[in-house]
Amino acid sequence: MQTKNISIIGAGLVGSLLAIYLKRQGHTVTVYERRPDLRKGNISAGRSINLALSDRGWQPLKEVGLEEYLLQMIIPMKGRIMHDNAGQITLQPYGKEGQAINSISRGGLNSLLMNKAESLGVNFKFEHKCLEIDFDQTTLYLSNDTNNSTIKSDLIFGTDGAFSAVRAAMQKQDRFTYSQSYLAHGYKELVIPATKSGDFAIDKNGLHIWPRGKYMLIALPNLEGSFTVTLFLPFEGKGYAFENLNTDKEILHFFKEVFPDALNFMPTLLDDFRANPAASLVTVKSYPWVTNNTMLLGDAAHAMVPFYGQGMNCGFEDCFELNKYIEHYGDDWKAIFKLFGESRPENTNAITDLALGNFIEMRDRVGDESFLLRKKIEAHLNTLYPKRWIPQYSMVTFNSQISYAFARRVGRFQHQIMDEIMKTPSIKSNWRNLDFETIIENLEKLMKNGGGNIENKYPL
Ligand SMILES: Cc1cc2nc3c(=O)[nH]c(=O)nc-3n(C[C@H](O)[C@H](O)[C@H](O)COP(=O)(O)OP(=O)(O)OC[C@H]3O[C@@H](n4cnc5c(N)ncnc54)[C@H](O)[C@@H]3O)c2cc1C
Repeated sequence: MQTKNISIIGAGLVGSLLAIYLKRQGHTVTVYERRPDLRKGNISAGRSINLALSDRGWQPLKEVGLEEYLLQMIIPMKGRIMHDNAGQITLQPYGKEGQAINSISRGGLNSLLMNKAESLGVNFKFEHKCLEIDFDQTTLYLSNDTNNSTIKSDLIFGTDGAFSAVRAAMQKQDRFTYSQSYLAHGYKELVIPATKSGDFAIDKNGLHIWPRGKYMLIALPNLEGSFTVTLFLPFEGKGYAFENLNTDKEILHFFKEVFPDALNFMPTLLDDFRANPAASLVTVKSYPWVTNNTMLLGDAAHAMVPFYGQGMNCGFEDCFELNKYIEHYGDDWKAIFKLFGESRPENTNAITDLALGNFIEMRDRVGDESFLLRKKIEAHLNTLYPKRWIPQYSMVTFNSQISYAFARRVGRFQHQIMDEIMKTPSIKSNWRNLDFETIIENLEKLMKNGGGNIENKYPL
C-alpha cells in the first residue's frame, strides 16, 4: 500500500480511533487538536464525563486491540432503573440476560485511544487549532499560541466535533447541504458522590432515570463510586427552566418538588449546579462528507442528541466501516471516499432521527404502564422468535451487524403492529393469548412489501 501523509483535525474520541486505524494501514498520521493534552494535568475531556458504550462502539475498539483495557474501565448497566414520582424503583432490562450497555469515562477512553495511537507512531500536535482549509491544495491553516502554520497533506479528515471548522469550510462550497437544529431543552451535569465508606449510593448496574415529562434526570456510574447525573430541562419558559433557577432556594425547591428521592443522594447539588454550565443539545446533518481529498467523520458529519446513547458509538462505527473500504480498495482513495461517503449517511441520518424520537420516549413514556406492557410483549415475541422479532432498541444497541437504517425501518413496522395490538380489548390481562405467529407473519409481510433499498430480512 502506498503510504499517505494524513492529517486529522480533532483528537476527540473519533479522531483518536481513526488515527489508530490509519496508522495500522501504514500511513503517516498527524492529529491536530486545538486543546491542550487532556492526559496532562486536570483537563476535562469536555462535555459528559461518562458515556454509554455499546456493541457498535465496542466492535472497533476490540478490532484495534483495546478490549482487555476496556474490560477494566467499564461498569455494565443491564437496564433502565426507573424512579417514579413516589420514589418507587423498577428495573427495565435493556435486552436479554447477559446484555448490557457500559458506562465508561470519556477522559479515560480518550486517553486510552491517544496512548494506543502514539504507541503505534501517530504524532499528536496539541493547541493547534484548524482555522481554514484549501480543498484544492489539501492544505490546512492552523494557529497556536505563538504562530500560524500551513500544512500540506495527501488526505485530511475532519473529526473536530459538532461545531467543526472543517465542515464550516465545506459549507462555503457549492451544493453542500447542511442542517442544524437545537432542542428547547439543555443539560447540566451534577453529581451523586460515593458514600462516606466509598460505596455507590444507588445501584451501580443500571442507568438511572427520573422521567418527569418536561424534565428528566439520568445517572450513570463511575468506577470510583460516584454517579454523573445529567439534568435535562428547558432553557426558558414558564415553570421550571434553567433561566428560572437562579437562587439556592429556587434550585432546592425544584429538586424537592420534582426529584425528591434523588436529592437525598446529592449533598453537593448547589455547588455543582452553580459550577457547571447549562449546555445545548444540537442535531447536525450534512452531505456530502467529502470535498476533494478531505472527509468529515463523527460529530463533525452528524451530531445527534444523546437519548439513544449512540453518538460516539456511531462515530466509532464510521471508522470501522471506513476501514472495511480501505481494506477492500487499498490505494484507490477516490473510490474509498466516494463509495463510503455515499453509503454511510443513510445510516447516520437514521440514528440521528431515532435519537430525537427517543427523547420523547425517555422523558414521557418509560414510566407509563402501557409502554411497559408494549415492551413486555415485544420481549416475549423476541423470546419466542429470536431471529424474527428483534426490538428496535436491541437492533441498535446489541446487534451491530444490523444497520441503523434497517433498525429504523423495521422499528417503524413494529411500532405500527404494536399500536394495533395495544387496541385489543383487555390487552393488559389477555396479552398472553395473542396469536404471536400471525403477529410475526404480519411484520414479515410489511418488511417484504416495505420497498426501499434496505435488505428485507434481519441480516443475522
Ligand atoms: C450530554 C451528552 C451525553 C452523551 N452520551 C453519549 C453516550 O452515552 N453514548 C454515546 O455513544 N455518545 C454520547 N454522546 C455523544 C458523544 O459525546 C459524541 O458523539 C462524541 O463525543 C463524538 O466524538 P467526536 O470525536 O466526533 O467529537 P468530539 O468528542 O466533540 O471531539 C472533537 C475534538 O475536536 C477538537 N476540535 C474542535 N474544533 C477544532 C479545531 N478547529 N481545530 C482542532 N481541533 C478542534 C475538540 O477540542 C475535540 O477534542 C453524548 C453527548 C452529550 C452532549
